[in-house]
Parts: sequence; C-alpha cells; structure tokens
Amino acid sequence: MHRIETISREIRTNGFRCRQCGACCQGEEKTSRVIVSPPEIDRIIEATGLEKSEIVLPYPEFIESDEGGWFTFEWCLKNEDGKCIFLAEDERCAIYSARPWICRTYPFALNGNTITISECPGIGEAITPEEADALAACLVKRQEAEEEEENAVEKIFSSHTVPEGRTVAFDSRGMWSIHG
Ligand code: SF4
Repeated sequence: MHRIETISREIRTNGFRCRQCGACCQGEEKTSRVIVSPPEIDRIIEATGLEKSEIVLPYPEFIESDEGGWFTFEWCLKNEDGKCIFLAEDERCAIYSARPWICRTYPFALNGNTITISECPGIGEAITPEEADALAACLVKRQEAEEEEENAVEKIFSSHTVPEGRTVAFDSRGMWSIHG
C-alpha cells in the first residue's frame, strides 16, 4: 500500500477534527515548543512583515560545548502570557496560511514510519477520507522538510566550534550568536 494511504488510514482509524479551541497554541512556558526552521521563519516574515527577532527565540535547551560555550538547535515561536504570539483573540491562527509544519499537522507526527499522536480534544472525531489524505500528505512533506533541515544542521554543526563564553543557536544556515 502507498505510504500516504497507510498513514491516512491510521488517521481515519483514530479520527480527528480541529475544534479550533487554540489549546495547542498555548502553554505555561515563556517560549512555545513550536520549533521552526529558517524556511518556516521566512514564510512568516513574508506573511507578516515582522523581523526574525520579533517572531522567535532560540530553542530553550542549551548544551555546554567542550570549549565552555553554550549551544542550542533551531528556534521556537515566541509566547506572550503563555500564548503563541500569533494566536488571535478569537482563538484562530493569525498566520494560518504561513503556519509552521508542526501546526499544520498537529496532533499527528511521524517518527520514521510510526505515527505519533499528541494530546488533543479533537481526537476521535470523524474525518473524511479526503481530509485524512491531505493530512497524511502534509505529514510526509513535514518529515521530508525536517530531514533536510536536520542534515543541513548536522553539516553546519560539525564544521563549527562554540568558543568559551559564547552562546549560539545552530540552524541550517549557520551558527548564530545569542545575546542577553
Ligand atoms: S502559529 Fe498559529 S497554529 Fe501555530 S501555535 Fe501559533 S497560533 Fe497556533
């Protein structure tokens, strides 16, 4: 069976309908865990006219380098009072057409060929075959984009050192100094 068909079937078995409750767009942390890559940040910048620094913070888990610096990988959308900065007052996404992969495919994700499901009140609701197919195709595209990003980050990471006293974030486009 075609891969997308298999994934679509599993989505249909679980059932899903977005209730537009906004629950997946908010939490208690200062930064969300909506991880975004440079191409995703570009799309949001294009859609909003905002600067990168207004949209994202570095992923908030830093690792100490052998040389005594600190590093992390990628970026997360900013939160305000625990809500994604793009969550509008009506609980809708203000950047819907430019929203990141993780938002397009939530509550589903692929781990290799295994589908994982996060907590969501919309699970168990009926979904049409067409909607499930579209979601399955989106999950595969997300996985491809993530693999491409990971490979590029790996190359950048292996060709840089993080010097003592520096804090940086790595992404597919380079090593970025973090201030403050
Ligand atoms: S970008 Fe949109 S869908 Fe994603 S967390 Fe923010 S408000 Fe929610």
